Amino acid sequence: MTLPLGFALTGLVLVFLLALIWQARKKVRDERASRPRALAHAELVYMETLFRIREPFRLVAKVDRVYRLLGGSLVLVELKTRRRDRPYLTDVIQLSAQRLAVQQQTGEVVEPYAFVSVLGPGRGERIRSHRVALLEADALIRLHRRRRAILARQEAPAYAAADAACRGCALRSKCDRFGGRA
Ligand code: SF4
Repeated sequence: MTLPLGFALTGLVLVFLLALIWQARKKVRDERASRPRALAHAELVYMETLFRIREPFRLVAKVDRVYRLLGGSLVLVELKTRRRDRPYLTDVIQLSAQRLAVQQQTGEVVEPYAFVSVLGPGRGERIRSHRVALLEADALIRLHRRRRAILARQEAPAYAAADAACRGCALRSKCDRFGGRA
């Protein structure tokens, strides 16, 4: 016996809608489970959102999550999947640039700290959140100027301050610190 076409289509639409609802609920559950404890009562206001600014320099920043505290200010959260359960300086620079972009575009106050939430292999689904202090705009502007000067070959780059940074560096084979030629 064959089902009437209309009946089969209704069934398909229902299955599709149920899958959408299940996905939306899972997203909410995952977001709740991965929240830093300090933001348990905050409101999630942005998720995977792009911000663009032109001043003090052109910047496009994609934020993972932004929460609003009860007092009205915003807090950034960056999600990372990595073996080592710790934040890096690159996270701090990335989050500081995001803060600048969100502040400039929205005019809202963004706290000078943020959270790096790390999910790593071997730790199950457990996410640990690390609070980090962010760089102010003037420090970011200096970094941006130096980057431009290095790319224009007006300034010489420096080696990484910590040897640990070199271990996983993609440029290691070309770096003259290790006998390579750029
Ligand atoms: S290997 Fe060279 S380029 Fe890479 S982090 Fe170390 S010093 Fe920098």
